[in-house]
Amino acid sequence: MKLILLGPPGAGKGTQAKFLIEEYGIVQLSTGDILRKAIADETALGLQAKEIMARGDLVSDDVVNAIISERLDSEDCQKGFILDGFPRTLKQADSLSAMLLEKNMKLDAVIELKVDEEALVARILMRAKEAGESRADDNETVVRNRLDVYRELTEPLVAYYEAKGLLRTVNGMSDMQSVKEAIRKALQN
Ligand code: AMP
Repeated sequence: MKLILLGPPGAGKGTQAKFLIEEYGIVQLSTGDILRKAIADETALGLQAKEIMARGDLVSDDVVNAIISERLDSEDCQKGFILDGFPRTLKQADSLSAMLLEKNMKLDAVIELKVDEEALVARILMRAKEAGESRADDNETVVRNRLDVYRELTEPLVAYYEAKGLLRTVNGMSDMQSVKEAIRKALQN
């Protein structure tokens, strides 16, 4: 099963990805996680991404395209994967299409988690508070910027994948279990 999870920050993509990993025995490819690890490890990539991520802006398409292209070649991705946080721009989506074609891979579905923006801001800030230490990119100004970036650059991917017949939209505002069920149902169709 080869999937993309699409939705604004805080929509629950990470949580749902974890369920899907178990259910389908596939791996999660989260560009955000990979970049955060690079920052923690103080690699050249991490140093490059740190300031950009702290502002809630996007790192360059070339950087994330290269990360994903390399990961898709790994043995653990051959059975299936779930892309979480990638693609985030139309340019990334085009690059992904080209990559998949070249690697002889085909997407099964794109799951969109649809959510209410205000509820989302509250959810993200609560998550940061509960975690004790807020993620550097979780304060309100940054959260609002990340949502603006999502609306402007990432939301067009909904129409992009709808046109390809791959889009499955799920209500991301219900509880975790119901979202999980809705995704399971959407993938059966
Ligand atoms: P996430 O954990 O997916 O919300 O990502 C956290 C941050 O990492 C984002 O706000 C971006 O700065 C950066 N990032 C993650 N994935 C991408 C991507 N596909 N393209 C550009 N920047 C990304």
